[in-house]
Amino acid sequence: MIIMGGKKCKVGSASWQVIETFQLKISEEQLMSRCTKCNGRFIQKPLSIEEAVAASRGFQVIPDCLFNQDMEFWQCVDCRQLYWEGTQYQNAVQRFVNVCKLSD
Ligand SMILES: [Zn+2]
Repeated sequence: MIIMGGKKCKVGSASWQVIETFQLKISEEQLMSRCTKCNGRFIQKPLSIEEAVAASRGFQVIPDCLFNQDMEFWQCVDCRQLYWEGTQYQNAVQRFVNVCKLSD
C-alpha cells in the first residue's frame, strides 16, 4: 500500500523503498522479459534518461521525478514503449506518475 500525502513527487522516500521491496519478490527473468503491451522484446542495452526522453518524445511522458534517479530505461523494439525500473508494478508506479502530474 503506497500512500502519497503531498503533491510533491518524493521518489527516494519511504514509499519508494516499498516498491523496491516488492521488486525483490520478482525474479530477474520476470522483471525484464517481455513488453506488457505487445509482448515484444526489449532493446539489448538500457537507455540513459536523456536517450529515454528523446525516444519517448511524442507518445510517452517520462515523469520528472525519475530525472534525479540513477535509472535505466528499456524500450520495446516493437511498440517503442519505454520501461524503467519498477514499471512492472503498474499500480504503484502509476501513483507516482499521478503525483508527478499533480505537481506540474
Ligand atoms: Zn511493446
